[in-house]
Amino acid sequence: MEGTEDALGRTQHSKAGTGSHGKLAKESKDAYFRNLYTKAPDFKAIALLDPEFAAVIKGRELNFNDPIAVMQLTKTLLKVDFDLRVELPDDRLCPPVANRHNYILWLKDLLDTTSYDDPGRKVVGLDIGTGASCIYPLLGCAQRAWSFIATDIDEKSLEWAKRNVKLNDFDSRIQVIGRRPDDALIPLDHLKIDSIDFTMTNPPFYESEEAMVKSAQEKSRPPFAACTGAKVEMVTQGGEVGFISRIFEESLVLRGRVQWYTAMVGFLSSLRRIVDTLREHKIDNYAITEFYQGNKTRRWAIAWSFRPLRPAQSVARGTKAALSRGILPVMTETVAYKMPLGGSVGGFAESLSSAIGALDLISWHWDRERLEGIGRAVDKVWGRPWRRRKKREMETETETETSEQGKVKKLAAEEQKCAFGFKVAVRVTREHVSVEARWLEGHDETALESFRGFLKSASEKAVEDAKKGV
Ligand code: SAH
Repeated sequence: MEGTEDALGRTQHSKAGTGSHGKLAKESKDAYFRNLYTKAPDFKAIALLDPEFAAVIKGRELNFNDPIAVMQLTKTLLKVDFDLRVELPDDRLCPPVANRHNYILWLKDLLDTTSYDDPGRKVVGLDIGTGASCIYPLLGCAQRAWSFIATDIDEKSLEWAKRNVKLNDFDSRIQVIGRRPDDALIPLDHLKIDSIDFTMTNPPFYESEEAMVKSAQEKSRPPFAACTGAKVEMVTQGGEVGFISRIFEESLVLRGRVQWYTAMVGFLSSLRRIVDTLREHKIDNYAITEFYQGNKTRRWAIAWSFRPLRPAQSVARGTKAALSRGILPVMTETVAYKMPLGGSVGGFAESLSSAIGALDLISWHWDRERLEGIGRAVDKVWGRPWRRRKKREMETETETETSEQGKVKKLAAEEQKCAFGFKVAVRVTREHVSVEARWLEGHDETALESFRGFLKSASEKAVEDAKKGV
């Protein structure tokens, strides 16, 4: 796709890719957004793009203690990078763009890797506590065909959020809704909506004003300064753990009506407490990540789901900090087999695909060109216990003469239920051929490892077959 380079050396597409069509356009648009803040900002270059920003910097320097300069940076980045117009009151949180953008990027990956559909599909999200900027819905709508419900309890923030939605002509896609402090945080019933794709929140982090002042002092920053926020934005009962726990309690009732419940987390200790709660409730499908933002402030995020689709490993296990604490979710990707390059890769792959296809699967689709396939199974159908059980079932069925109709019904019902969805890919590098498996669907944590064993022997057999030219 064509594009011009801006003063920052970034490829600019006309309004971030609008006016272009097809998958390629979507992919390069995504690549554009992904690369936005991977390097430290060059303020001088940004000033060349926006005279309003040029007016607040001195040379290459930006004074982060100057609220006017900080606010202008946010407005300018939203304008030059996302084509968004935003107005902000001076007594509310001024959101740092890179951090907020990181959350949206992670959500895109989370949703893309937990769907069998095209990444361009329509998605509905809820932003709990959207703030005066309404930044998450704006960033989401600027990048994808998403729509949002945005809530807040603060009158002033609600007023400004509505104004920002209008300024960007997103009235048909972002619905700003006022809530009371004790109302449900996820108002699906109130709005008479059956289900949505995700909820997100950047919760008030602190449990008291004292805790907030203390944290500001530790960072040697004055409280209530630019980017710190007003009390309603920063303080909530029980702090962020209290707020996220409320969302969690609601999720226990709503369950699969929301595919992903997500939250930003300000303290690593909170992340650990939330993961403990998920585990106590046997919620195995969750993801955690860390947002890097090139300064000292670190942030994490967590997502959990009652549905069976599993995120890619880079999405679910996106923080090294958590590694040592044992709070990462289980792996979803594995290499089942690896061999030096040689012989016919095509023949090997075909033979492996046939071995998988010979299993008793709900479905198996093999893409010859990409050398990868997606399959779904009712159980660990490659294992001995399953085969034994199947055999027993067949025997008893013939003995007790179940009606033909009943048998068909039973099989059909069973076939609907996928307990293990997977992708198998044969990857070829200059030196190696490897067989990789990705767990796509299901709740059985032992299934991937067991499937890996099957793939390993199937690969070994495929090598033999390819040698023999079968
Ligand atoms: N999303 C914005 C603002 C985050 S600050 C940003 O990332 O910059 C937290 C926000 O949550 C504040 O706007 C606060 O008013 C709001 N809030 C606090 N309690 C809430 C509740 N019970 N329901 C909805 N919003 C709430």
